[in-house]
Amino acid sequence: MTCVVSKPDVSDLTAAFVGLGAMGAPMAGHWALRGYLKAVWNRTPERAEAFAQEHKVMALQHLQELPSKAKILALCVSRDDDVLMVLETLLEGLTSEHLVIDFSTISPDTSKRAAKRVRGCGADFLDAPVTGGVEGASNATLAIMVGGRLESLEKIRPLLDTIATKIVHMGNVGRGQSAKAVNQVLCAGINEAVTEALAFGHHLGLDMEQVIEAISGGAAGNWFLDKRGKSMIEGRFSPGFKLALHLKDLEIVAALAQDLEITLPLTEATREHYVQLLQQGYGDEDISALYRLKRPS
Ligand code: NAP
Repeated sequence: MTCVVSKPDVSDLTAAFVGLGAMGAPMAGHWALRGYLKAVWNRTPERAEAFAQEHKVMALQHLQELPSKAKILALCVSRDDDVLMVLETLLEGLTSEHLVIDFSTISPDTSKRAAKRVRGCGADFLDAPVTGGVEGASNATLAIMVGGRLESLEKIRPLLDTIATKIVHMGNVGRGQSAKAVNQVLCAGINEAVTEALAFGHHLGLDMEQVIEAISGGAAGNWFLDKRGKSMIEGRFSPGFKLALHLKDLEIVAALAQDLEITLPLTEATREHYVQLLQQGYGDEDISALYRLKRPS
């Protein structure tokens, strides 16, 4: 691998996007609409071609071409190894003019490894996991937790403003992912509480649509109940957020908790429930499929 090392300078806000999944496609779509996005690459090329046709940007056949098309290189792929694999292919083309921003949810340590590789080429790296679901990505109302140099965040802020209503700088690389791990613990608990409560209501013989309508506006109301309550009582679990991906996040959380020598009992229970559901073949369903265990039909 050869790369040119000099002082980072990201004055050019042309962007390219890797990973046009449930989150990446709508996020990249906002950048395309504002004229920032020049090129996309997706592992399954048909997805990139369809996106490129709709948004009038380039669909690249080879990932290696990406750095020559744009200065901001965004990733939104599934797991730690996917981020590292994509980066290894990009490294050769990186210069001090590039900024890599990773929206994927991965471990803080992997983000630090990724940043080291990218910075070794003179480019910069931000970990920038997001929350707000596919609805947040579509409606540009995400919250982003950013780790890395503040000056790099400030340079890319105009692009982030097109997809998010909240952007918080958490500190050094990895701190964004640490904050996201906290978010995922909370999501696990909320999923347990909502699925259990709705199953309880079902057993009480209540009209659950009415219950959801009544409690949504009160103290127990929350995003997950609002967005997934109705579909789960109707037995629809299309993602959304794939259960296998939340399980991946809870495994990251478990490793962090182990390092800290603390226990997170509620998160552990959710992790066990997800493993059961995965074994039953529901890993590609939305996390609200937890309802299947609470109210088996
Ligand atoms: P998704 O719909 O499954 O999409 C995953 C994307 O990653 C696809 O474009 C996939 O390509 C690509 N990918 C996977 N492995 C790859 C590899 N080895 N090399 C290159 N590309 C690869 O997942 P998603 O829901 O968009 O989630 C993406 C990330 O955002 C995950 O880290 C997830 O935890 C996080 N996240 C998700 C949500 C949510 O509500 N969905 C919310 C916040 C954060 P193919 O098209 O070829 O499969």
